[in-house]
Amino acid sequence: MTPAVQRADFDRYMLPVFNPLEMILVRGEGSRLWDQQGRDYIDFGAGVAVTSLGHGHPALIEALQHQAAKLWHVSNYFTNEPALRLAKKLCDSTFAEQVFFCNSGAEANEAALKLARKRGVDKHPEKIEIVAFNGSFHGRTFFTVSVGGQPKYSSGMGPNPPGIVHVDFNDIEAVKRVIGPRTCAVIVETVIGEGGILPATPEFLQTLRELTTVHDAVLIFDEIQSGNGRTGALYDYMNTAVVPDILTTAKGLGGGFPIGVMLTTAEVGNHFKPGSHGSTFGGNPLACAVAEAAFDIINEPALLANVRVKAARAAMALRAIGERHGCFSEVRHAGLWFGCELSSALVNRAGDVVSKGAANGVLMLQAGPNVLRIATSLIISDTELDEGLRRLEKTCADLVG
Ligand SMILES: *Cc1c(COP(=O)(O)O)cnc(C)c1O
Repeated sequence: MTPAVQRADFDRYMLPVFNPLEMILVRGEGSRLWDQQGRDYIDFGAGVAVTSLGHGHPALIEALQHQAAKLWHVSNYFTNEPALRLAKKLCDSTFAEQVFFCNSGAEANEAALKLARKRGVDKHPEKIEIVAFNGSFHGRTFFTVSVGGQPKYSSGMGPNPPGIVHVDFNDIEAVKRVIGPRTCAVIVETVIGEGGILPATPEFLQTLRELTTVHDAVLIFDEIQSGNGRTGALYDYMNTAVVPDILTTAKGLGGGFPIGVMLTTAEVGNHFKPGSHGSTFGGNPLACAVAEAAFDIINEPALLANVRVKAARAAMALRAIGERHGCFSEVRHAGLWFGCELSSALVNRAGDVVSKGAANGVLMLQAGPNVLRIATSLIISDTELDEGLRRLEKTCADLVG
């Protein structure tokens, strides 16, 4: 029987900003997904590092159903219990003293950048400059896409917001050349995600901390993708000796339910007053109830330790596949988040690897044209992991020959 909707309907009815693969996924369980025809796939992409606890986790379903029967939405003219519980847990477990809830990563960064600008302008009208890094990604609103370091996403739409300077990632001297009294913020991914799974060096982050302190600018860590257990720590800053003034996260926070958050200190946060910023849906009870359930599971030493163990095993397996087939020149990883740099045999063919992988029953991502990105669920089973690796190995063999 022909399904009621098909891939061709995408081209007919949807804005052409995406180009999804052919199959339509209809069901998921753990790290396995099924399409309309009943074919199964191992999920090595987790909806772009979002479904951190896999598909259909019983605790998340329970939290969603329980809250769905109780209260969905009240607006920010009222507060609500799930939002307050989640806010308290986030503050108790991190450097943060205040949180702002929103619905996505871009919104969390938008809040962070506006807050940093507000704090800067409160100190001096010209303290508005934002230092950001080439190759970074911070979202798709006009402000966040302009702060991101990939001009292909931010050009061709008229004038960009002013006061943003970009320098090379991990280049301390370049930062020293542009930072100064007019700088209100430095925003950085502790591991560049979309741009290729490139970790910041410890010295780079340490120097950013020192320079922002000297110049009274805020240090913003964009942990939209690296946060919530992805790297084997609750937040990746905990793997470093550096504490930011603002941390933004989203993706894995809700385990698949849309939610974002900006975490900050009271000193920074108090530059906003009632009315300075807002969101209709931010902090809504459904999203916060699901995120709270996900947070309780992820923020457990045993789970985070298991992420590190599984990550080390998967990294070894990926390197072995790379050697057997000559497909990867390097495998980088931060916890269960991998960037396989393609060798000359597959140069700039990450898109082909992803589509061939899907044909072979493993769903993966790319991070630029030459990096195959893998982000599994944090609780992927050994069976699912091994099956996915076998399908990936077949994909490499098919493509390299
Ligand atoms: C995905 C991502 C964003 C944007 O998040 P959205 O939810 O798509 O708005 C921002 N920063 C980083 C580092 C990301 O990976």
